Amino acid sequence: MTTMSRDLHLDTLAIHAGQAPDPQTGAVMQPIHLSSTFAQQGPGVHRGFEYSRTDNPTRHTLEQCVAALEGGQQGIAFSSGSAATSALLGTLAPGDHVVVSDDVYGGTYRLLTKVYAPLGIEVSRVDMTELRNVEAVMRPSTKLLWVETPTNPLLKLIDIKTLGWLAGTHGIRLVVDNTFATPMAQRPLLLGAHAVVHSTTKYLNGHSDVVGGMVVTDDEDLAKRLRFIQNAVGAVPSPFDCYLVLRGLKTLPVRMRQHSQSAHSLAIYLDAHPRVHRVIYPGLPTHPQHALAARQMTLFGGMITCELNGGLAAARHVLSSTHLFTCAESLGGVESLIEHPASMTHASLPAEARAELGITDGLIRLSVGLEAEEDLRADLQAALS
Ligand SMILES: *Cc1c(COP(=O)(O)O)cnc(C)c1O
Repeated sequence: MTTMSRDLHLDTLAIHAGQAPDPQTGAVMQPIHLSSTFAQQGPGVHRGFEYSRTDNPTRHTLEQCVAALEGGQQGIAFSSGSAATSALLGTLAPGDHVVVSDDVYGGTYRLLTKVYAPLGIEVSRVDMTELRNVEAVMRPSTKLLWVETPTNPLLKLIDIKTLGWLAGTHGIRLVVDNTFATPMAQRPLLLGAHAVVHSTTKYLNGHSDVVGGMVVTDDEDLAKRLRFIQNAVGAVPSPFDCYLVLRGLKTLPVRMRQHSQSAHSLAIYLDAHPRVHRVIYPGLPTHPQHALAARQMTLFGGMITCELNGGLAAARHVLSSTHLFTCAESLGGVESLIEHPASMTHASLPAEARAELGITDGLIRLSVGLEAEEDLRADLQAALS
């Protein structure tokens, strides 16, 4: 089934892509191939696998499945989303320039400024919601446009098609970090992106028990370089982790629909709550880019950001009062999480930078899980009263 049609629905691909019953035993589930090495019939004569850093059957299956979901040809798996990001940045050369969005994932910005800048990679941070802001910072040395949409934590949307066109006219690459949306909500490669990166830690695995990453691309040169880096650097996921993500993927479509449905109705509830100053959710007509969300996304996702009346004190109170929403970083699992960007995920940003972005002390971010929506609503209601 490894050559299965890409025209199948995502629900079907999530379960079958890259996978078929084991020809020897009939096992329906993919085996976890823990072997580090593989027998060769003679020197250099093997069945596709030599050594598990280079390639491993369980990892190979996972790479094929995620690639199919993103509508791409090549999946390259890594031991974390950050390792996947680093591999992409590792394809650059000294003097190359990268444009990222102003509220790009903190770990991505840290890699760029603390690891790659000393090696000669240059970076510009701009509000990518406006095409002209991106054009204004582009240089002849610009090689990558790096986009997240929706962004974190402000859930700003960036127009993938427009930036794909811009990258195309300059002969450079557009990378989309699709961790928040997942291929269930948007498939960037089909909108003109050249590569998609994931922290599979989040929705793709979905059960908060794996740290992992993936890049998907149709660009043969890029894929070749990434496979080289995957093997040379060796930041590869374990076969067991690959198995867990494959298992999680089977329910990704069902999970994403429910995450989105519950998040949408909780966003409407919060929007009407007197203790809530504003709710940011791409599915609400009050979202400044709701029209783009409706055009670009097939689901509005499971993340809600809202600003409470009462600033830090109110945020502290709510975060220590919920019972079902666990106060923790990360997102995308079956369990609901709540966090305070200013003191948790975005604490490493200087206060002025946070203020500039709009990450106020009253801002909280919810990752809406799969518990009953009524129970989640009651939990928020009690914490807000
Ligand atoms: C978590 C995350 C990452 C980093 O992934 P890790 O698996 O934690 O290394 C990158 N981008 C986004 C949008 C994330 O949420």
